[in-house]
Amino acid sequence: MIATPVHVSSDEPLDARLSTRLANADALAAERGVALTPLRRQVYAAIVVSDRPIGAYDLLSALEPQRGRVPPTTVYRALDFLVEQGFVHRIESKNAFVACCDAGRPHQSQFLICDTCGATVEIAGSALAAPSAEASSAHGFEVHRQVVELSGLCAACRAHANGAPLS
Ligand SMILES: [Zn+2]
Ligand SMILES: [Zn+2]
Repeated sequence: MIATPVHVSSDEPLDARLSTRLANADALAAERGVALTPLRRQVYAAIVVSDRPIGAYDLLSALEPQRGRVPPTTVYRALDFLVEQGFVHRIESKNAFVACCDAGRPHQSQFLICDTCGATVEIAGSALAAPSAEASSAHGFEVHRQVVELSGLCAACRAHANGAPLS
């Protein structure tokens, strides 16, 4: 299978991050023999360019300029595919989606989520997941999926709360 060339419509900000992520997703899809259809790509691109976790309904409005009205079920199916492939993660507490920081390498999802501005950071590695894995195996329990979401204040919001001027 041949990876399709990176195509981004002109009204999207064509930053390096987006091209890199799309190229990576194309390569992974080709390697796995799955189809990153134009809609799946557009949904993925909309999640990558969003600087906060984005919900399905915000995705629908983000897609509207390019595709007109897309049925919600179509977007949900595209999201299921992207989550299954590890290209995006679902933030359970917000029912929203973020692009994975390291798609292609299987890992547990761990997030720091700011209560004030919504900024969400994915933490690579299994530092947070390890202790709960130990505790569950002590109960003879086999974990199939683990999502770690820590909510609090991000560095920027903490600085602002402490009276520092907004940068
Ligand atoms: Zn990830
Ligand atoms: Zn914040």
